[in-house]
Amino acid sequence: MLAMSTIVWFRRDLRLADNPAWSAATDQHDAVTALFVLEPKLWRSAASMRRALLRGHLQALDEQLRGFGGRLRIEIGEPAKIVPAVAGETGASTVFVNADYSPHSIARDAAVAETVHLESFAGLAVHAPGEILTAAGTPPRVFTPYWKRWKDHPWGLWPAAGDVSVAAEPGADLPDEETPPFECGEAAARDRLHSFLERVDDYTATRDRPDLDATSRLSSDLHFGTLDPRRVRHETGETTQSRIGLVRQLCWRDFYLQVLWQHPRSLDLEFRPEYRGMPWRNDDAGFAAWAAGTTGYPIVDAGMRQLREEGYIHNRVRMIAASFLVKDLLIDWRLGERWFRRHLVDGDIAQNAGNWQWVAGTGTDAAPYFRVFNPVSQSRKFDPDGRYIHRYVPELRELEAPGVHAPWKVGPLELASAGITLGETYPEPMVDHAMARKRAIAAYEAARGASNG
Ligand code: FAD
Repeated sequence: MLAMSTIVWFRRDLRLADNPAWSAATDQHDAVTALFVLEPKLWRSAASMRRALLRGHLQALDEQLRGFGGRLRIEIGEPAKIVPAVAGETGASTVFVNADYSPHSIARDAAVAETVHLESFAGLAVHAPGEILTAAGTPPRVFTPYWKRWKDHPWGLWPAAGDVSVAAEPGADLPDEETPPFECGEAAARDRLHSFLERVDDYTATRDRPDLDATSRLSSDLHFGTLDPRRVRHETGETTQSRIGLVRQLCWRDFYLQVLWQHPRSLDLEFRPEYRGMPWRNDDAGFAAWAAGTTGYPIVDAGMRQLREEGYIHNRVRMIAASFLVKDLLIDWRLGERWFRRHLVDGDIAQNAGNWQWVAGTGTDAAPYFRVFNPVSQSRKFDPDGRYIHRYVPELRELEAPGVHAPWKVGPLELASAGITLGETYPEPMVDHAMARKRAIAAYEAARGASNG
């Protein structure tokens, strides 16, 4: 016999298909309250594009729930007060959720669980933190052994949902936002997956090229949970190198979820203790130029302007831009991490902190401290015709490759015919890369030396 009413508390799993918490609740109960609690602190910490997406996804979920005769009940405030109150009102003794693993989420759920029973599922990852263990029974510390175990670990798609009636109490209205940058809801996310799968077989060869439309751009859907990572893995399959390459990126996502879960301080503390005393420079003007995309290094500026325009940066350019902040400007990676997290439509604490620490050389799989990305050679290699730069830095549109990668090396005639006056229409490079590289290596060595001594 089915138990009566329960609650599904949606958080970062804004879908009804492939959602283990929703499936279990609808299997075991014949009436469900679908609840979302908007936490004002999280809402304020996101830039408008990500807020618009969240609002759009919630509206799409509400629309789907109308098909069950109900609504998405939205409440605004502290989950520790709201969830028990809704449980009391609806007579639910259990609240179904998909677990989340950031320090904030863990503390929030613990506070709620003091008064209501949370039935928790692992719908956020292919393999949840703690599932992939070494022979010694501990989570692997670095990626490669994690990947070796992850790829052969048993898994399957989540069970389908049952029939259910959904409570029709809509709750609060969300604050108005701008139009989302792309179509919201799980059906649109599934369409994005399918359209990418038509071109996935070029992924390995082209994924590092920001000038091509060569990656899936599913990160935001994975962040909000409009797509289930297991579904992505299932539909991608592993029949070609490119498909395996994409699945491997899903493994990175699980890996960083696990790193943050196991080392909660790593969101703002260097994973490697030897770099905790880095002599970061205080340079507000330098940070502002980086954030505005006016460093004078075209590939960095293109990336930072893509962030402003689209809430997105291509992965290769994220690495180049992050490396520029940390190594060339010697500015604390935490400032860059915060900027990215606020502005990215996929801004995600585990993925962002993990990747920033990787770039800074302070993380689990850290790039060695002496490897400093050269923004000019990276630009030449990965944006060979300068098309990505031209797209986001209009003042350089008339300057062709190879000059566009380093305008300060271009002769006055070529610059003049491209309508460029350095220092006026486009900035001079704000720092000399060769000098900055030496300065960064010396700073890292000093921090290592101090930690040894
Ligand atoms: P694809 O290449 O199509 O990859 C498929 C999926 O795999 C992605 O959607 C993503 O979920 C996952 N993935 C890919 N690369 C990585 C990676 N390096 N680490 C973890 N997961 C990965 N990703 C975020 O989702 N949120 C962030 O806040 C974030 N911040 C980053 C900050 C820096 C400094 C760097 C270098 C990378 C960051 N990434 C972040 C990882 C990566 O850049 C994005 O996931 C990727 O660019 C998203 O584009 P895509 O969906 O087309 O990726």
